[in-house]
Amino acid sequence: MTSTPPPVTAGATVYGHPRQGGSRELKRAVEGYWRGRVTAGVLGEVAAGLRRANWRQLAEAGIDEVPTGDFSLYDHVLDTVVMVGAVPERHRAAVAGAALGGYFAMARGTQDAAPLEMTKWFDTNYHYLVPEVGPGTVFTADSTRQVGELAEALALGYAARPVLVGPVTFLLLARPAPGVTAGFEPLSLLERLLPVYARVLADLRAAGAEWVQLDEPALVQDRSGAELEAAARAYAVLGGLGDRPRLLVASYFGRLGEALPVLAGSPVEGLAVDFTGPAAGNLAALAAAGGLPGRRLVAGVVDGRNIWLNDFEESLATLNTLLGLAGRVDVAASCSLLHVPLDTAPETDIDPAVLSWLAFARQKTAEVVTLARGLAQGPGVIAAELAANRAALASRADSPITHDPVVRARAAAVTDADTRRPQPYAERTTAQREHLNLPLLPTTTIGSFPQTAELRTARADLRAGRIDAAGYEARIRAEIAGVIAFQEEAGLDVLVHGEPERGDMVQYFAEQLTGYVATRHGWVQSYGTRYVRPPVLAGDISRPGPMTVRWTTYAQSLTDRPVKGMLTGPVTMLAWSFVRDDQPLGDTARQVALALRQEVTDLEAAGTPLIQVDEPALRETLPLRAADRPPYLAWATEAFRLTTSGVRAETQIHTHMCYAEFGDIVSAIDDLDADVISLEAARSRMRIAHELAAHHYPRQTGPGVYDIHSPRIPTTNETTTLLRQALNAIPADRLWINPDCGLKTRTWPETTASLHNLVTAARQIRAELASTTS
Ligand code: GLN
Ligand code: ZN
Repeated sequence: MTSTPPPVTAGATVYGHPRQGGSRELKRAVEGYWRGRVTAGVLGEVAAGLRRANWRQLAEAGIDEVPTGDFSLYDHVLDTVVMVGAVPERHRAAVAGAALGGYFAMARGTQDAAPLEMTKWFDTNYHYLVPEVGPGTVFTADSTRQVGELAEALALGYAARPVLVGPVTFLLLARPAPGVTAGFEPLSLLERLLPVYARVLADLRAAGAEWVQLDEPALVQDRSGAELEAAARAYAVLGGLGDRPRLLVASYFGRLGEALPVLAGSPVEGLAVDFTGPAAGNLAALAAAGGLPGRRLVAGVVDGRNIWLNDFEESLATLNTLLGLAGRVDVAASCSLLHVPLDTAPETDIDPAVLSWLAFARQKTAEVVTLARGLAQGPGVIAAELAANRAALASRADSPITHDPVVRARAAAVTDADTRRPQPYAERTTAQREHLNLPLLPTTTIGSFPQTAELRTARADLRAGRIDAAGYEARIRAEIAGVIAFQEEAGLDVLVHGEPERGDMVQYFAEQLTGYVATRHGWVQSYGTRYVRPPVLAGDISRPGPMTVRWTTYAQSLTDRPVKGMLTGPVTMLAWSFVRDDQPLGDTARQVALALRQEVTDLEAAGTPLIQVDEPALRETLPLRAADRPPYLAWATEAFRLTTSGVRAETQIHTHMCYAEFGDIVSAIDDLDADVISLEAARSRMRIAHELAAHHYPRQTGPGVYDIHSPRIPTTNETTTLLRQALNAIPADRLWINPDCGLKTRTWPETTASLHNLVTAARQIRAELASTTS
């Protein structure tokens, strides 16, 4: 008698794949096209080749249904703008003239037409282009790209599932176009948009799509009753269409909450749901909602946005529970694999122990396939994989890398007193005033000075062994000397060393902290053709020795003016890294904070009178749901205070954040208890100064008066105008004068001209204030 295997009830799939290729071929091709060195035809071939390679890899790994339409030359939300015909008025002509040229014009802007705005895709570090709509927007369906990519995959013999940004998420991500009256709600265009989606679905059906995935991650955010009703309406309409593919509505990045019964109750054939980390609560919620009897459930049990090995036993337990809740269960990564690097294989420099705990896109694909096999045929068929997985997880849990007793003891010993400066702000200001002896309206900068080609060459020379460490240090010191000389000549009051030694404000510290691991090839798309290599918080964090002290003290040795020390804060260190998933984020933040606190203490001991701890990521890391924000802000602000509270009253702590909208975190900013904060404000015409005043923010503030994102040089007059506006909100004895952000992306001529004007403006306003008060 032969035993027949049980029927396969579980497939394996993913929602998207890294786009760039093994050696970032896509970046080279797209940038080559922009420079006129690559033709549109060649770019198209490179792109098609990458898609083919991705599908082949997925299929060979055992993925049953490959995604199509997830690939993009720049951004998948911009592709959706094209698909629904929501091209902004100012780009119409360009798009009509040449589709590809117009596409990139929307992404990057032209001399005459600003690009679409760019912002973070939910709480990831991927940036999408923000659709612009208004009451006059006329949507038109353009399914060319989606149909074309589906046809490519089908022609190659793959079972394929087109993936689209869903209509509700598209409108919830959109903003009113410039000039549209305030109060316009993009979601009010839903009825107009649905027929366009209906058309695209019909085209995909005609092209052979059995299933189409509609991504609705916006439904894991807090949504109003009206927004949930819109979602219900959207899927009632699309589900009610006649000849259409089967619909899989996907959500990721969190708990669906009230949106779960809405989706479960809609006439679609399947849902894809995230069950990783904090989204694990979707399991109980799905059970409570009665599951999806007879329908398809795609279970995101492999974390698609972090780089750790999956816990197979835990995932199988979840999957087995889900089997009872749906007609068919497929295994997937929780979101597109776009957010993780391609492959761990080339990472030959990483400690093999740590490497065995990591899973990038290729490894995650294999995990999904293994879990699907285990689910369909029983754990016996994946016994070897289960054993290896168990061993790797155990080695991670037991490793001295993840459990350093010294670090653990230090973190456990932290008291509330360690997270508070002994003297209140008012007392500190007096001490600082005497110690620093600064003029009214002190002028300073945010830290970095231009990162010149010479500096990049020096770093490349060091890496390639063309110069040794001493030679590199000499070049950096020469740069610091130049930066100090310039600032003295320009007449700035608080100087900086200019950060020439830092290619990246997180990487620089990560490389020097034990417990952090850097990748060599772990590129992840940040936006367009920009890729970053986030370091990995792999183990317990400690600081073997000072990281910045020699640069800051060298700078201070060259001048009598105070030099400000410059560090990246703990929240930003976490936000721009891959974080540990085996302990709460707050614990990791505390370890990083303790290491940075040592640096702060060493800087102070070396005679640094002011220390700036940058936290540009404080706001962007804010959890998607309001209920999750207070606990986040509690550990985040505590980590900042732990970093900065070990200093004497006369040592002035600065912080910096680069964004102009943060009404929702003003009280958290106050909780940082920094003496001085510098912020972006130039473009928003000092709105931030007024917001802070409205919240009675009690400390010193430097609202930026120079928009460093633009090559424009602000005139003295513009600057004095901004300063007068700032003085309407902030008293003169609490106002600092500085640019919006660091100058690393600017050129030297722009920098010198702008800072000369800034100092002149400060002197002019000081003179005005002196004449009105005398
Ligand atoms: N100190 C950093 C700089 O000046 C701050 C950068 C940032 O806020 N992103 O470059
Ligand atoms: Zn900034």
